[in-house]
Amino acid sequence: MSYSSIIASAQTSSSQRYDVLIAGGAVMGSSVALFLKRLAPACSVAVIEPDDLYELASTLRASGGARRLFSCPENIEMSNFSLGFISALPDVGWKKGGYLFIVPPAGADALKANYEMQRQHGVRVELLDRPALQARFPSMHTGDLAAGAHSLDDGWCDPHSLLQWLRREARSLGVVYLRDRVVGLGHAGDAVRQAKLASGTTLSADFFVNAAGAWSKEVCAMIGMPLPVEPLRRFEHYFESPNRIEPLPYVKDLARLAFRPEGRGYSGGLVNSAEPRGFNFDVDHDYFENVVWPALAHRFPAFEACRCVRTWSGLYEQSELDGNPVIGNYPGRAENFFVVSGFSGHGMMHAPAAGRAVAELIVHRRFETIDLSRFGYARVLANQPYPERGIL
Ligand SMILES: Cc1cc2nc3c(=O)[nH]c(=O)nc-3n(C[C@H](O)[C@H](O)[C@H](O)COP(=O)(O)OP(=O)(O)OC[C@H]3O[C@@H](n4cnc5c(N)ncnc54)[C@H](O)[C@@H]3O)c2cc1C
Repeated sequence: MSYSSIIASAQTSSSQRYDVLIAGGAVMGSSVALFLKRLAPACSVAVIEPDDLYELASTLRASGGARRLFSCPENIEMSNFSLGFISALPDVGWKKGGYLFIVPPAGADALKANYEMQRQHGVRVELLDRPALQARFPSMHTGDLAAGAHSLDDGWCDPHSLLQWLRREARSLGVVYLRDRVVGLGHAGDAVRQAKLASGTTLSADFFVNAAGAWSKEVCAMIGMPLPVEPLRRFEHYFESPNRIEPLPYVKDLARLAFRPEGRGYSGGLVNSAEPRGFNFDVDHDYFENVVWPALAHRFPAFEACRCVRTWSGLYEQSELDGNPVIGNYPGRAENFFVVSGFSGHGMMHAPAAGRAVAELIVHRRFETIDLSRFGYARVLANQPYPERGIL
């Protein structure tokens, strides 16, 4: 039976079998589920999610940033679709505040090359030299900077509201959410046949999706599929400053300082790329003072007096191969098992496009809208990184 005839076939009424089973029901799993039902309304979809409250899910810990400033055309195109999608949703707190990448002289050529690629893909972005940067953002210390790229239509949203919207919409189209955990996968020939759940239930399906975020490597290991995706702890801080400055976009620099306005203050952080990988949610309350505050005060002297109000931790599902996601199946070994993980800090913003892409792979057996073949698992098997050269 072909993939499309499976999808088109009459659905079984047995609760033990679905057309598609999705492990992980946060922003990525819910987006896959929603787009599956939009593309193939008759298919039966179950999302297996152990935690209704999403206590540890990265989605609820994200900063909400959504930008088009990437180097890979695939990422820019995913942003074009996803940001259009998110910004049109009601009640997800979309703020079109813009994004600003700033670089020292050593980063100027890369910024310009990325800018040209972004323009080719229709992004409304301006390249600013140092005087122009200073004029637009008078409070910024620009002495060590060469240039900035300012994209005017980017912004941020509330990740929790986005997840709830996707989940609600998916359920309204008939997607079933099961409160359970995938603990094993039954594999035969070149396909996955069954999922064993923590409750003891076994479910069978024609297609399986691994949308388990920082836990996706564990799910892949259930079929012996090595996935170079690791949990990388990252702090997010909400801070306030007594000194008022001009309105800021989401600001990012090469030291990986990244922050944006939030309410009366700002939300952001500084990724420590050398952070040991693992499921560590401990909060280092000195990190802001020791690392983030000096970087902030250097860039915006008015933030000398800022005060950290709250710090929380979360996990990036970090793609150790190249910082880009893995979207696709395991050719020859698990043809019906699709991974959608490794977004390395971009998973919330890219969830709509990635969910649609996986739905296309299942329903049409190929990418119909954005060609994401270069994000497939083949590059992992061949150990051929396809790196993102925008600032991560
Ligand atoms: C501090 C921080 C800031 C960030 N800022 C941004 C940002 O500004 N913009 C952006 O786009 N992205 C950002 N990200 C990244 C973004 O949060 C993630 O890329 C995105 O949320 C990944 O979504 P997901 O659904 O794949 O994973 P998750 O949200 O982690 O969800 C995975 C789900 O899988 C479930 N699960 C785990 N194991 C199993 C199993 N065996 N069976 C079934 N279910 C399972 C978990 O319970 C969980 O709910 C940030 C991340 C962090 C930590």
